[in-house]
Amino acid sequence: MFKSVAILGELGVTGQAVTKVCKELLISIVSPDLADVVVASPGIPPSNYPKKGPLPISEIEFSFLLLKSKKPSIKLIGVTGTNGKSTVTSMIGHLLGCPVAGNIGIPLINFVLGSDLPEYIVVELSSYQLESCFSFCPDISVVLNITPDHLERHGSMESYAEAKARVYKKQTGEQILIYNDDDERVRQLLGTVSTKAKLVPFSRKHKLIAKVASFQLGIHNALNAVAALLVSDAVGRSVDYGVEKLKTFSALPHRLEFIKQVNDISIYNDSKSTNLDSTQIAICSFKQSVRLIMGGKLKVYNDSDYFRFQSYLKRHVCSLVVFGEASTTLVSHYNNVVLLRVVKTMKEALDVSLKMSLAEDTIVFSPGYSSFDQFDNFEHRGTLFKEMVNAL
Ligand code: ADP
Repeated sequence: MFKSVAILGELGVTGQAVTKVCKELLISIVSPDLADVVVASPGIPPSNYPKKGPLPISEIEFSFLLLKSKKPSIKLIGVTGTNGKSTVTSMIGHLLGCPVAGNIGIPLINFVLGSDLPEYIVVELSSYQLESCFSFCPDISVVLNITPDHLERHGSMESYAEAKARVYKKQTGEQILIYNDDDERVRQLLGTVSTKAKLVPFSRKHKLIAKVASFQLGIHNALNAVAALLVSDAVGRSVDYGVEKLKTFSALPHRLEFIKQVNDISIYNDSKSTNLDSTQIAICSFKQSVRLIMGGKLKVYNDSDYFRFQSYLKRHVCSLVVFGEASTTLVSHYNNVVLLRVVKTMKEALDVSLKMSLAEDTIVFSPGYSSFDQFDNFEHRGTLFKEMVNAL
């Protein structure tokens, strides 16, 4: 299909996977100006694409073309959104008993070499992967939500949302788009970037919410479960079977994960929260006001995003302890909004939060920023946090 390929970001996980598959398929690896196709890893922003050669495509687009030429009947389910992608991707994998791939950590291209391709693959898709997709059209797409994030890369909310729309933009009339009808930005996006796909909305008012509300903490998880059930319904599985099956789904670690009680104080790890929206969702998931710990690598938000978050802090948080690179910005926005303390490390943040807590309080570590200022990744950060709590 392709005789030569250039790989941008060949040392990363995705780049290495593409290299391996190209070698197996005897596709020669050349420089961009000589290549039939240029495949970009998600870490390479379009602003760094080479000036010569064909317009680079993402590994997802490349894998999609290879998979479809190998097994035209293979069905892909693409899941995107600002938050909840990994959770919903895993839920669908659990419901359909099929493999998961993409942004969840398994490059889609890994499936190209398999001799026995599955009937379905669920692919978690980030905006970085979607922005260089051009013909990619999953049989079922899911758009969970769109809230401010990754503005450093995309420049504006419009271009971030436009990247997300590429999950459904090329879908045909036989294909399905499942989307969150409660989310105003998702609804607006459907107005600006249209699709031929059949539309299946879900919302807090969906009749299935009542059946899944007790499974996991927070209305967001009920919405995640409904989105996953709609996928399994779309492929012909019974909803009642799906509801039963979801009871055996284990929530992913580092997503609003209960660790333990210390002196009657409940402590949660939500290290995967890397934006203000997921922290907002976390603090709204508890009946009582929580003791929140935030911090991490500073990222771009608009003042209006900080202002919006402020009203949730006022209503749902009794103390805020901040650490890391984002501290100064958080202090400048919230010093007079909530009882706030600044510390240098995550350990100090836990110690200070514990000192302030009374029996029956809840401490939530939901950083709202990525971990790269002090840790390798969110797993590293969350694992250390859990170790600290478990050592208490
Ligand atoms: P993603 O893969 O999109 O980062 P995850 O499932 O890993 O999503 O969850 C990331 C963070 O977002 C966690 O803090 C989690 O509690 C929160 N979250 C999960 N689902 C949702 C949702 N539907 N809306 C908002 N936040 C969510």
